[in-house]
Amino acid sequence: MTPEAIQRGIVGGDGPLQRRAMAKAITLLESTRADHRAQADELLTQLLPHTGKAFRLGISGVPGVGKSTFIEALGLYLIGQGHRVAVLAVDPSSTVSGGSILGDKTRMEHLSVNDRAYIRPSPSSGTLGGVAEKTREALLVCEAAGYDVVIIETVGVGQSETAVAGMTDMFVLMQLPNAGDDLQAIKKGVMEIADLVVINKADIDKNAATRAEAQITSSLRLLGQHGNPENAHHNEAQWHPKVVQISALLGQGVDGFWAAVTEYQRLQTANGRLAQRREKQALAWMWERIEAGLKLAFRQHPQVRALLPQLQQDVVAGRIAASTAARNLLLAQSGQAPAAIE
Ligand code: GDP
Repeated sequence: MTPEAIQRGIVGGDGPLQRRAMAKAITLLESTRADHRAQADELLTQLLPHTGKAFRLGISGVPGVGKSTFIEALGLYLIGQGHRVAVLAVDPSSTVSGGSILGDKTRMEHLSVNDRAYIRPSPSSGTLGGVAEKTREALLVCEAAGYDVVIIETVGVGQSETAVAGMTDMFVLMQLPNAGDDLQAIKKGVMEIADLVVINKADIDKNAATRAEAQITSSLRLLGQHGNPENAHHNEAQWHPKVVQISALLGQGVDGFWAAVTEYQRLQTANGRLAQRREKQALAWMWERIEAGLKLAFRQHPQVRALLPQLQQDVVAGRIAASTAARNLLLAQSGQAPAAIE
C-alpha cells in the first residue's frame, strides 16, 4: 500500500478496510527503517488536516486499580451514546523488558470486539520518549479515522504519566479507596497533573471511598492554591480538579464521570485553555524531536565518537571535570579544536 492508499483507507474507508489501513499506518510509524520513516512522515502530513477533532483522555493508575475494567465500561457507555472510541496505551514496562503490563489480550473483551472501538497495545520497544512519540502519532491516525474519543492508558510510574498528560486534553488518575495510595501520588507529583481523580472499587468499602474522596479533595485544593500558579486567576470560569467515586466492575458512576469530563471540556474550551494546552503540547513535541535528533547526530559525529570513550573514562576517574569534557565534545562536533585541559 502506498501512503496515499493508506491515507484514503483511513479517511474515507470504514469497517475492515479502514482497520487494515490503520494497522498499516501504525506499523509504518513504529518501524525503525529510514524509508518507512520517510513514508510515515508523508502519511502524517496528509492525515494532519483530518486530525484534532477527538477528545483526548489520559487514564492512569497502578496495576490492579481497575483501568481495563473501567475503560471497557466507559468505552461501551460512550459507544451507546453514539461515539467511536479508540484506546491506546503507553506501557513503560515494555521499554525495559520487552514484556508488557498492559498488553494482556483478555482485557476489555467486549470493547475489543465492538466495531465502533479500536484498541491498540503499547508500542513494544524503545525508550519511553520513543514509545510516547509513536503513541502520539497513532493518536493522529485514530483521529483521522473518525474516532472522536481517544483514551490513552498508562500505568502509574511517574514519567509515563507525565508523558501521557502531555499528549492528552485531560488527565485522569485512578486511585484505590485506601489512604496510603494518594500520598504516594502526591509524593510523585502526579496529583498535580491530574485534572480528575477517580476512586474506583467504591463498592468494596463505601466508607473508605468517601474518606479518600475527602482527603484527596483537600489535597487537590492545597495544590491548587500553592502548587499551580496558573490557577491564580480567580475571576475567570475555569476547571478545578475534582474527585469522583465509581465502581468500574458494577458500571456505577460511569455517567457521573463522563458528566465531569464534559463539564471540563465545556469550561476549558470556553476559556481557551484547551486550545492553549494543545498549542503548548505541539511545540513541546517539536522540541522533543529536535533534541532527540540533535543528540543522535552528536553521538554519530566521527570526532565525537573518536573522543568519547577516553573522555568518559577521564570523567569517571575524576581526571577531567564533566563540564570540561562536555565542552570539548561540543567543540569537536562543531569542528573546533578542544580547549586546553589544565
Ligand atoms: P488494571 O490492571 O488497572 O487494568 O485493573 P483491572 O481492570 O484488570 O482490574 C483488576 C481487578 O480488580 C480485576 O479482578 C477486576 O475485576 C477488579 N475490579 C476492577 N474494578 C473493580 C470495582 O469497581 N470493584 C471491584 N470490587 N473490583 C474491581
